[in-house]
Amino acid sequence: MAKKIKVPFLDLQREYIFLKKDIEKKLKTCLKEQRWILGAKVEQFEKEAANFLGAKYTIGVASGTDALILALRGLAIQRRQKEYFDSKDEIITTPFSFVATAEAIIRAGATPVFVDIDSHTFNIDPEAIKKAITENTVGILPVHLYGLAADMTKILKVAQEHNLFIVEDVAQAFGGLYQGKKLGTFGSAGAFSFYPSKNLGGYGDGGLIATDSNELMEKIKILRDHGQKTQYNAEYIGYNSRLDAIQAAILSVKLRYVNRFNSLKRKIAQKYARSLRSIQQIHLPYEPQYCLHTYNLYTIKVAHRRSELLQFLHQHGVGARIYYPLPLHKMKAFGCARTQGRLSATEVVASRALSLPIYSFLKETEIHYIAKIINNFFRHHPSNT
Ligand SMILES: *Cc1c(COP(=O)(O)O)cnc(C)c1O
Repeated sequence: MAKKIKVPFLDLQREYIFLKKDIEKKLKTCLKEQRWILGAKVEQFEKEAANFLGAKYTIGVASGTDALILALRGLAIQRRQKEYFDSKDEIITTPFSFVATAEAIIRAGATPVFVDIDSHTFNIDPEAIKKAITENTVGILPVHLYGLAADMTKILKVAQEHNLFIVEDVAQAFGGLYQGKKLGTFGSAGAFSFYPSKNLGGYGDGGLIATDSNELMEKIKILRDHGQKTQYNAEYIGYNSRLDAIQAAILSVKLRYVNRFNSLKRKIAQKYARSLRSIQQIHLPYEPQYCLHTYNLYTIKVAHRRSELLQFLHQHGVGARIYYPLPLHKMKAFGCARTQGRLSATEVVASRALSLPIYSFLKETEIHYIAKIINNFFRHHPSNT
C-alpha cells in the first residue's frame, strides 16, 4: 500500500502562489483608485471577456446565479414585454445540475420542466427536450455540466423549429468549446460563474452574461443596477447585482491564464484515464472529439459500492465528492416543476457519479496516489455485483 498522503478536493493556494505577484500588483491599484463597484476595472474585464469568448457584449454581475436570473428576466422583457415570465411559461432544463439552474427559472417567474440526461455525457438529452415541448414552452436552459458541452447542434435545431430561446448555463465551462466555438455564445445568452472553485474563479462571488444582442445587453445592464434606466428612476424591478472592481481586477489577471489552466486540467484528466481505464467497474468521463472539456470536475461513474469507494478514498486522505447526490426534481423546493418521462438516466447517474480532485498544479504523484487507491479498492472488491 502506498504511503498515506493528503490530497484535498480543491487547493486554491497553489494557483495563488503561482499568480501572487500579478494579483497583488492589481489589488494595489484597486486600493489606490478606491473605485469599488463597476467602474473602469469592470468595464475592462467585460471587454477582455467578450474578446476571449467571441461575444459582442458581456455584463458583469454579482454571481453565476444572478447571471442566469438576469439573462432570463432580460429575455422576458425583450421577447414578451413582461417583467417576469408567468408560471405557465415553461423552460426546459436538466435535473442533473446545481440548484441554481432551476432556482433561476423560478426566480424569473417561469416553471422548470425537467427532462432526462444522456448518461454518457451527463448532459440534457435533445430527444427528451423534443418530447417535453408544449405550446407553453418558451425556452431551453442547457447546462454544460462539469465543463463538457451539451449537444448544441441538436438543441439549436429544436429551439429554431419551435422559436425558443436558449440560455446556456456555462458556470462550469469557461473556455470550453463545441465544434471550435466558445461555450456561452450559442444561445441568446450564456451565464458564467466566477465562484472561486470554477474554471475562472474570483476571490468571492461574481458572474457574467455573454450575449450578441444589443437590446438584451441594455436590459440586463439596467436590471443589475436596480432597474434604473436613468439614475434614481427605476424602469423595472431590478437587483443590486454588480460585479465589483476587486473581482474584476483578479479575473482580468486570471483570464490570461485560463486556457493554460484548462489545459493543465485536461492533462490531469488524461493521466487519470490512463491509470484508471483497466478498472471494469468504473466509467471514465466521455469527451466527444468535437468538444473541448474544461474538467471543472472530473467525474467517474461507479456502478457498485460507490459509498464504500468514497469512504475508502477519504480514509486514505483523498477528498473525493459527489456532484450531485440528489437530482433537482427530487428536491422539495422544486415540487412545482414539471417532469417529462421517468428521468431514469438521471437517477442512475446520480447514484453512480463520483468526482475526484482536479485542479491546476495537482501533482503527478498525487494523481498516481489517487489512482492507486482506487485500483486497490477494486482489487479487494473484484466482483461486479
Ligand atoms: C456554480 C454554478 C451556478 C451558480 O453560480 P454562483 O456563482 O455560485 O451563483 C449555476 N449553475 C451551475 C451548473 C453551477 O455549477
